[in-house]
Amino acid sequence: MTQSKIQQLLETLDNAERIDEVQLAEKIKAIGFKCKKCAKCCREEYGDNTVFIFPSEIRRISLKTGLSRNDFAIPTPSQDRDAEGNIHTFEWVLRKNGDCIFLQESLCTIYEKRPYICKTYPFYLLEGNLMISECEGLGSEISGEESRRLAALLKERYIAEINESAALFARFKGFKPSGKGVCVHDSEGEHWV
Ligand code: SF4
Repeated sequence: MTQSKIQQLLETLDNAERIDEVQLAEKIKAIGFKCKKCAKCCREEYGDNTVFIFPSEIRRISLKTGLSRNDFAIPTPSQDRDAEGNIHTFEWVLRKNGDCIFLQESLCTIYEKRPYICKTYPFYLLEGNLMISECEGLGSEISGEESRRLAALLKERYIAEINESAALFARFKGFKPSGKGVCVHDSEGEHWV
């Protein structure tokens, strides 16, 4: 099962690397987008503001802020339990106090180091196709340069997501009740919190 999943992910990676950034940029330009700096995507009252983050992004934010992982990242909720009742999950998300904890006075305090999901909002790639989340900046004029920058970033994010999943599957050894609490399985191993 794991080997076939890894093989499937490697095929997805191959397809992802062949995504035509020029075509992707043209699609983004045709849709149009300009961030209105409303910060609604960071706020709870406007919908799901969950931000998934990779281990590499956690390290970048730690370096930038001096905070440790557990100060700003938590395991995603999960129903998966081992024989001793410990919870197992596969992703990290940014902590929230309702709004994202890094939002202050409508500004992102880690702007330069914000996660991919924030840098590419309201766009994402699903099975190689461009998808769009709700955003009031959609439909605004976007320059060719900015649409190319976003296209490159979207492709980079998509490849990072696939690599993260492949590394996770390669490392995953099942739910072993060797700790107490919640275990996050990610591309870098098991982390008990
Ligand atoms: S990290 Fe920054 S951009 Fe992303 S949700 Fe938090 S405040 Fe918003």
